[in-house]
Amino acid sequence: MLYQFGPGHPFNPIRTKMTVDLLQCMGSLDDSYILTPRFAREEEILLGHSKDYVDFVKSIDDAGTLDGHAIDEELLLNYGIGTEDTPIFKNMHRAGLMAAGGTLEAIDLVLQGKAKHALSLMGGLHHALSGKGSGFCIYNDIVIGIKHILKNYHKKVLYIDTDAHHGDGVQWAFYDEPGVCTLSLHETGKYLFPGTGAVHERGSGAGYAFTVNIPLEPFTEDDSFIESYRESFEKVAEYFKPDIIITQNGADAHYQDPLTHLMLTMKSYHFIPKLAHELAHKYCQGKWVALGGGGYNIFQVVPRAWALIWLEMIHYQGRLDTLPRTWIEKWQKYWDGPIPEKWSDPQHPYEAIPRKEEISYKNEMNLKNALYSISNELVHKLDQRF
Ligand SMILES: [Zn+2]
Ligand SMILES: [Zn+2]
Repeated sequence: MLYQFGPGHPFNPIRTKMTVDLLQCMGSLDDSYILTPRFAREEEILLGHSKDYVDFVKSIDDAGTLDGHAIDEELLLNYGIGTEDTPIFKNMHRAGLMAAGGTLEAIDLVLQGKAKHALSLMGGLHHALSGKGSGFCIYNDIVIGIKHILKNYHKKVLYIDTDAHHGDGVQWAFYDEPGVCTLSLHETGKYLFPGTGAVHERGSGAGYAFTVNIPLEPFTEDDSFIESYRESFEKVAEYFKPDIIITQNGADAHYQDPLTHLMLTMKSYHFIPKLAHELAHKYCQGKWVALGGGGYNIFQVVPRAWALIWLEMIHYQGRLDTLPRTWIEKWQKYWDGPIPEKWSDPQHPYEAIPRKEEISYKNEMNLKNALYSISNELVHKLDQRF
């Protein structure tokens, strides 16, 4: 709960609490599976961030000043801190250390063989750049975690990001790194922050063809999303043959999310972890670390979507129909709107999208184009060149 920008900010850590509580109310999360995250060490943060940026964040005191002096506007802008998206809050540096520590711990658990799968919902802060905070993210726990893998375990990492926003911070950190393949499915940057993630961003130098972007049209629905996700994830995993899969599970592509224009329902959020799980067992002896990310409808969407990741990880076999009454009643007190009663969304939860065919067709074309650089013909041609 340290990572909190304050009242009114859409990034609200209560989401994690509600998810854990939902699983506990169902009896599907044993206390022995919950670990208290450690704080990342500063040298670990420096794997992903420049020293001057970390020193800057560290030196901001709780009053939002530097040594009692107001911080220069230009400096704040330069470091992307104190903006509307990423305002200064109490214990900012320590909160960033904790989010990164959770991700590092999840990775160590899996790579040391203590668990096949691990979930850290405070992680997934995919926008932060080496020298800059961005889009609610102070330190990029994902970049730090993957650098930690490269440095200490020497494993090939497949990173897949299904947040509605492009996973830009992670992409740029590994743009020329052939040991890390990043795959991001997101609403096209034409209409949504951060604006990047076009198909032609494919990596550079030795990292060429190890960056894959699938931009989706606004108002994309389940079927088109699921097809794009399945096809790209399967092809990329087959091509890259990862040692470990890391998923960023932002839940802001749901039709009820207030910040984006994608129209997924819980059908997609059932399928997202299911496929990640299947491919982790197929290629990586199960090694799978799942992280949180965006998700701004905290009562109706995020707890259900994130609980499904855990249920998939424990190979949950029960029927998922209605949500536990105790959970609904407990959290209803904190919100005026209706909390859903079921795991699935209603059959036709919103008015039919008029351009459905066109949207699906555009997504299909984008998908083909995005996968071209790893298609058999091209990989074959590249092989012959060397
Ligand atoms: Zn997002
Ligand atoms: Zn498994």
